[in-house]
Amino acid sequence: MKETFVHELDHPLAKAILTVLRDKRTGQIEFRKSLVRLGRIIGLEIVRFLDVVEVKVETPLNVLASGVMIPDMNNSVIISVLRAAMPLVEGLIKVFPNARQGVISARRVEEKGMRPDYSFEIEVTYYKIPEIKESDIVIVADPMFATGSTIIASLDYVLMRGVPKRIFIATVISTNIAIERLRNYLLSKGVFDRTRVITVAIDPMLNEHGYIVPGLGDAGDRAFGT
Ligand code: URA
Repeated sequence: MKETFVHELDHPLAKAILTVLRDKRTGQIEFRKSLVRLGRIIGLEIVRFLDVVEVKVETPLNVLASGVMIPDMNNSVIISVLRAAMPLVEGLIKVFPNARQGVISARRVEEKGMRPDYSFEIEVTYYKIPEIKESDIVIVADPMFATGSTIIASLDYVLMRGVPKRIFIATVISTNIAIERLRNYLLSKGVFDRTRVITVAIDPMLNEHGYIVPGLGDAGDRAFGT
């Protein structure tokens, strides 16, 4: 598969589930379940980027069959950017059942407003991240990749625990503003080449409050019924 920095899913089911999420008539339970379903699909897409090793196994018929193993499935770390990532991670973990997990509670300081460069000050109130080894693949999950401020603040905490082999940003909707900000950040940290953004859609703009347009509203509020 040809690898690009940003990989937009080209799957009708992913697009159909995103349509349910975008629909303002979708209630809390269906919204949360839809995020879980998308997490599973995004997880399957991430697997396509991992190295595959050819192996042979003996079947119960005492015959050798060719197959594959994906060693990195056992070196994975999933980071939830609280709180909207929680349902997405529930889906991701179905694909990466052996993942170690970390959490980061990061919030935009909305009282201070969005800065002229479309960034926010981010307050991190809690984090717990496992040690990250050179052989690890790290998936940072946040459904709304709007300005890039939250993901970048989260990556600062992830990289403090080690530099992994690969980094995947698992997200539902991205904007080009966030993508470009992340690109510059990753280049400055020397980890651009090992990072991929896996997204279901790229939306055209942000509103004055930093919400993605057309977007899906506040993912956390809609998933948790607040
Ligand atoms: N967070 C959300 O939940 N929605 C947006 O549109 C942007 C950030």
